[in-house]
Amino acid sequence: MEYAVAVAGGGAAGLAAAVAAARALPGAEGKIIVLEKNPRVGKKLLMTGNGRCNLTNRAAGERGFHGDAALAAEVLRRFPPERVLARWEEWGLLCREEGGGRFYPQSGQASSVLDVLRFQLGRFGVEERCGAAVRGWRRERGGFRLETAQGPFFARRVILAAGGRAAPKTGSDGSGAALARQAGHCIVPEFPTLVQVRTDPEAVKLLKGARCAADISLFHGERLLRRETGEIQFADGCVSGVCAFQLSRMVSEWVSTGRAAGEAAPGGLALAADLLPAHTEEDIFVWLARRAREFPSLPGAELFTGALHKRAGQEIARRGGFSQRPLGNLRREELRAAAARAKRLEFPARGVFSWEHAQATAGGVPLEETDPRTLGSIKQPGLFFAGEVLNIDGDCGGFNLHWAWASGWTAGEACAASLRKGRGAC
Ligand SMILES: Cc1cc2nc3c(=O)[nH]c(=O)nc-3n(C[C@H](O)[C@H](O)[C@H](O)COP(=O)(O)OP(=O)(O)OC[C@H]3O[C@@H](n4cnc5c(N)ncnc54)[C@H](O)[C@@H]3O)c2cc1C
Repeated sequence: MEYAVAVAGGGAAGLAAAVAAARALPGAEGKIIVLEKNPRVGKKLLMTGNGRCNLTNRAAGERGFHGDAALAAEVLRRFPPERVLARWEEWGLLCREEGGGRFYPQSGQASSVLDVLRFQLGRFGVEERCGAAVRGWRRERGGFRLETAQGPFFARRVILAAGGRAAPKTGSDGSGAALARQAGHCIVPEFPTLVQVRTDPEAVKLLKGARCAADISLFHGERLLRRETGEIQFADGCVSGVCAFQLSRMVSEWVSTGRAAGEAAPGGLALAADLLPAHTEEDIFVWLARRAREFPSLPGAELFTGALHKRAGQEIARRGGFSQRPLGNLRREELRAAAARAKRLEFPARGVFSWEHAQATAGGVPLEETDPRTLGSIKQPGLFFAGEVLNIDGDCGGFNLHWAWASGWTAGEACAASLRKGRGAC
């Protein structure tokens, strides 16, 4: 069977690209196919935003992207958040804004996003072929012959949207990069991002299960690399939560390249939590001194009770070595050190958790090997890229899906335009 367009990968970017191509190619019913290796399309999409799908962010485009972000500027300018939301509404999805400029489907269900995409695929006669992992390709008759788990397919244009390596159980296991290599592309080394930061297990043992509002900073020695405000969570051997996820990119890059924020970073990195960002160290000291005066017989572990998450207070007491001593026994300098720890509770950043735990992939096909207006390959005419397979990754908060839509729509529309130009391929 011969197709006008084959999309390799039925995730967010691939489905968006297929719909965009189909809408821009009148009369292409039955000529566009999505080749997906899983038994169903959109497996990862259903897991996004804890099943609620944070599908874009009001700030997407102005900030929030890494990797070849400068080269992606044209695509991001064409699809600012307002346009992304308007298109979703046109396609049948109503959205609402929550804190931090995050947009979710009005329904509160990621499945609504997938449903709407699949309604569009059906409306424009796009074929979904599941269980059809693309294993390789070669050029043939001015197009591509794709070898898949269901035999060969021929297509005039191919959109590679097979994702990165994050959460490989959802299907994105790095085969997108392998297929790009086969087409002659380089791959910027990949590393996991938006993932838990590994730390000394002893440093978080007492804190396990605690969630704290904090300012959290990443330091190399005394050099501040990045600061985030929000919530951190503690689990076995790691610091987690949105803030830690945002900082994880730098830790992960440092692990894989030895560099942090563009500079060689020998030694190590550390996360530091300011657990009382609205208070000065002096205010905290005064408060602690009063607590010790008023309740001299309470154990040291209760010093911060009422001010911090109980386990955070216990950890500060443990680090100060006074958990069991009565508050009335604590010296002034011990109270000062405890106040300082509440402002800067440190956790060595030893690395990050593995691909299985990551939400996104840094690295991939460099944008300089594509036309930044179309995301078409400069090495293989007729090949386009969309989504996480490219060397772009975003912050937590809807930025990665924003890129999936913007790049998918760009590649889909450009692919259709190239077919319209080239003697009516349909
Ligand atoms: C738990 C979790 C939560 C997340 N939450 C959010 C969120 O709320 N907001 C946000 O912006 N981002 C979120 N992300 C990130 C976001 O989901 C991804 O950036 C986005 O899905 C990438 O889209 P994609 O289409 O490029 O890749 P994917 O969604 O990974 O899709 C790639 C598809 O290609 C298929 N495939 C792979 N290889 C082949 C092959 N050889 N042949 C055929 N098919 C193949 C895969 O099976 C998969 O279906 C989350 C990620 C995870 C893991």
